Amino acid sequence: MLRSLIMLPCMGMIACCVVRQAAGQLPKPHYRPDASDPKWLVSAVQFHGHLGPWAVAGLRAGMTGRKAVGAEGYFDIEVTVEGPMVKTPESCFLDGLQVSTGATLGKRNLKWGKADEIVVRVKDTHTGTVAKLRPTQVLMQLLTSFKPRPKTAEDEDEDADDHDEHDEHDDRADRELEAIARKIAAMPEKELFRVTLLGK
Ligand SMILES: [Zn+2]
Repeated sequence: MLRSLIMLPCMGMIACCVVRQAAGQLPKPHYRPDASDPKWLVSAVQFHGHLGPWAVAGLRAGMTGRKAVGAEGYFDIEVTVEGPMVKTPESCFLDGLQVSTGATLGKRNLKWGKADEIVVRVKDTHTGTVAKLRPTQVLMQLLTSFKPRPKTAEDEDEDADDHDEHDEHDDRADRELEAIARKIAAMPEKELFRVTLLGK
């Protein structure tokens, strides 16, 4: 009895801490971390929510463009991007760009316009230098290489009795997408983009 009386307040304190912690934390991304993932990649995943090829392509585009014009990012930069980013996963590109340039929708220094082909322009507002980037064929092939496998009858059955969205089918797809994303994260930038410097 005495033991239960001591335990009760303790349990209450634990429950209280858990609630308070959850309220003060950032959301948990849908992601399987790998010890070799660089810190910048982890930061981007925290912002975007998962490790997807299109987000990482945007991330690398922003890094490449910012370096090419010599901007620090956030407040000395303007980014315009044209491309087919009407829906996910293509639109994930915009999140990657925001993380790596610091140009964001909220600060109004990132603008997007619909087009068939991807062109990113990164401008250093102090010098007026603009880097124009186009993805290479290699990058486009990687971005479009993931083909979701059609669901089998077995998968449909699993879905019927199990509504957990992390079923085996989704896990396999996530793992494949993360592998492509990590490949894009690690490739040399000259294999990913053709860069032209304007206005110098
Ligand atoms: Zn995404």
